[in-house]
Amino acid sequence: MKVLTEFEAVIQCKCPRCRQGDIFPGKMYGFHLQRTNEYCSSCNLRFEREPGYYYVAMFVSYAMNVAEIITVGVGAYILGLELKYENLWSFVAVILGVVFLLSPFNYRYSRVILMHWLTPGLRYVPGSGKSENAEPEVKK
Ligand SMILES: [Zn+2]
Repeated sequence: MKVLTEFEAVIQCKCPRCRQGDIFPGKMYGFHLQRTNEYCSSCNLRFEREPGYYYVAMFVSYAMNVAEIITVGVGAYILGLELKYENLWSFVAVILGVVFLLSPFNYRYSRVILMHWLTPGLRYVPGSGKSENAEPEVKK
């Protein structure tokens, strides 16, 4: 099995330790509740490191939301929505719509960013995944 780079593992929401197991079950978008797997299916890492661990992801999500709101607001302005008081609710509607559509994305990637980049001591350990262990190491 090909070993993912750190960036690929983040994009594909893979376990930060083995880069093989999925952090989330199912697809990002759909009519189901968002859940996070409790353990990595490959290296058995417990994703929720300690009680309240995911509260930190809330701050990451907040930062992502602020960036998205600014981007969408500026984007709407560039695309022709004038900065007038009469347009206030148009801006609010556009921004809330985009934030609502991006909420599953924010849910997932805030946790992935937390696990991959903001947790001290949680690093990629080569060979910690199941399929890597199954393959015998070739000596040169
Ligand atoms: Zn893992």
